[in-house]
Amino acid sequence: MNCLECNKELSYIDHKNSFDIYGVELCKQHKGRMDKLVNSNKTPAEAIKLYYGLKEIGISSMLEWWDGKKSVDLAISRVKLNIEIDTEYNTITHEQAIMDLEEAMHSFKNGFTTIRIPDVVIKYYLKETVKNIEGIVEGLKVNIKTL
Ligand SMILES: [Zn+2]
Repeated sequence: MNCLECNKELSYIDHKNSFDIYGVELCKQHKGRMDKLVNSNKTPAEAIKLYYGLKEIGISSMLEWWDGKKSVDLAISRVKLNIEIDTEYNTITHEQAIMDLEEAMHSFKNGFTTIRIPDVVIKYYLKETVKNIEGIVEGLKVNIKTL
C-alpha cells in the first residue's frame, strides 16, 4: 500500500495507524498533516475518507473550507457545493435542526448548495456516496452553465 498523497510505500505500522483512524492510506508525514487539521477543526474521519474517495474519481474538494462564517467539512468550490458530515444526527435537537435549516438558507442565498450526509453512510456506502455526489456535481455544473 502506498500513501494517497505522495505515493510513498507504507510500512505495516504506518498503514495501520492511518487506516485505523481515517480509513485511508497515508504516510506518517501526511497523516500528521491530517491530525493537525482534525485537531483544530474536529473534522470527522468520514470527511477525510470522502475527500479521498472523490479525489480517486477526479473530483477535487477542500477539507475544512472557510466560507466566511464557519468551516465547512468538505467543499467543492468549482460548483459551490458544501458538504457537511453529520455525526450526531440521532440526537439532533430541534434547535440544531432549525439552525441547520437557517444555515442552508444563507448558503443558498449566496449561491451555494449544502448537503448533509450522516457519517455512517460514508462508512458503509462510500462508493454509492461518491457516485451520488458525482451526480450532484454534474447537475450543478449544468445549472451554472444555464445561469
Ligand atoms: Zn505521503
